[in-house]
Amino acid sequence: MFFLRTAVLLLALGWIGAQAPAPAPYTVLSADGRRPLATRLINGQEMFSLDELSGLFQLSVKEDALAGGLAIVAKGQTIVLTPGQSLASVGGRLVSLPAAPARDGKVWFVPVDFVARALAPSLGTRIEVRKPSRLVVVGDVRVPRIAGTIEPQGTLARLTLDAAPATPHAIVQEGQRLLLRFEAEALDATLPASTAPDLITAVRPGDTPSSVVIELGPRFGSYRASEMPGDRGGTRIVIDVLAQTTAATATPGAAGTPAPALPPPAPAAPPLLDLVPPGGIRTIVVDAGHGGSEDGARGPGGTLEKNVTLAVARRLKSALESRLGVRVILTRDADATVELDERASLANNNKADLFVSLHANASVRGSAAGAEVFYLSLDEYGDQAQRVAQGETEAVPVFGGGTRDVEVILWEMAQARYIEQSAALAQAVEAALRERVPMSPRAIQQAPFRVLVGANMPAVLVEMGFITNAEQEKLLGSDGFQTSIVQALVDSIIRYRDRTTAAVPAPARAGGGAER
Ligand SMILES: [Zn+2]
Repeated sequence: MFFLRTAVLLLALGWIGAQAPAPAPYTVLSADGRRPLATRLINGQEMFSLDELSGLFQLSVKEDALAGGLAIVAKGQTIVLTPGQSLASVGGRLVSLPAAPARDGKVWFVPVDFVARALAPSLGTRIEVRKPSRLVVVGDVRVPRIAGTIEPQGTLARLTLDAAPATPHAIVQEGQRLLLRFEAEALDATLPASTAPDLITAVRPGDTPSSVVIELGPRFGSYRASEMPGDRGGTRIVIDVLAQTTAATATPGAAGTPAPALPPPAPAAPPLLDLVPPGGIRTIVVDAGHGGSEDGARGPGGTLEKNVTLAVARRLKSALESRLGVRVILTRDADATVELDERASLANNNKADLFVSLHANASVRGSAAGAEVFYLSLDEYGDQAQRVAQGETEAVPVFGGGTRDVEVILWEMAQARYIEQSAALAQAVEAALRERVPMSPRAIQQAPFRVLVGANMPAVLVEMGFITNAEQEKLLGSDGFQTSIVQALVDSIIRYRDRTTAAVPAPARAGGGAER
């Protein structure tokens, strides 16, 4: 019944969609400037008109009435499109497109991806299609990606902006706003919503394509800015907006006149508390246990572990991204089957700094309850793994030259190098969970979990509760409990990050857990 109604509703929406106005145009950025490029939604696919592309990229388009095909000549190379086929021949090489070309009257339309997949190789020009920001970047135009967060921290609000690639920039104050200008043709910016409106009311695009405006709130007193190397050759720009201090401790100058940006802090200003140290946490992989054909454990009421882990993983991703400004990658964002080794591979390939695997526990004892945190036990991985863990670095098998990028470490040795850090992370997670959710009597354990073995970074596995316990099953599916788990994990990662130099306690040795 529910499905039928949904289907009818979707059909109705689809029909309305067909009548709706065209989607917002793309902007083509090239050395020649900015040009709009309209799109049309045809059969659910965003498309560009070949007429418009021809004008922008000097193409000649010939329709072969006999063969029913289209020949597009770009810089001497020919692209052949065939109606009804989602393939293009580019100088004789086949490339796939998400949809076949479509025609409306005399005008032909091609999917947006045609530009990057077919046109760019035949023109021999770098063309980047950035769908989220609706940009087509042609050639060597500087369009850095800018993304940021705002964190209220007592008497200051910290705006963190990551610019990639690193781009020279300048910050100036103009009255009640800060103007951040980048040396670029345009910005591909995802700007944060304000979470501290009394200090920063808004962060928005500036009047020029390469600037960002920070609107200052009524409590604004002064600001200070710093920068440090960011992820992937980018720059991290940190702007602290400080609240006004009392007259006695105010920075010299007329009341209400903001202090100059540099030299930095007046003695009354709070210290920089939360800078990410070089080599700090930038990328976290969150692994939703099981999925697809693997349901994981099942509760007496029918709740499946795979659904609980995905729900919590998605919430954790958005919480970590907004509170820590880190990149979070999910090993799955759907009910999909993902092999255990693939999960660690994803983390390794993305140079993740932490790996957190989420599960719900199972026990034949219906009364078993509480969260448990695991890190890898090397017991089943032989002497070599033990030697690696004990820092006998000559035992680390490194192939292929030894630079960080080509370093290849035997799969089963990867996690061994991080056992101490994983233990510290597990401890932070256990302590934070204990503040918010029921814990099992064996709250920290080591076990030879396959999913952790290949992770080339500190890694833990969290059993959030026992889904086989009817009461805990209800808890695991509830909004309040999932929120508590997410908050505890965020807190623990912040604490782990802030105390990575703290002593590592000896781990409790125990077996157990349902995930080996
Ligand atoms: Zn599991």
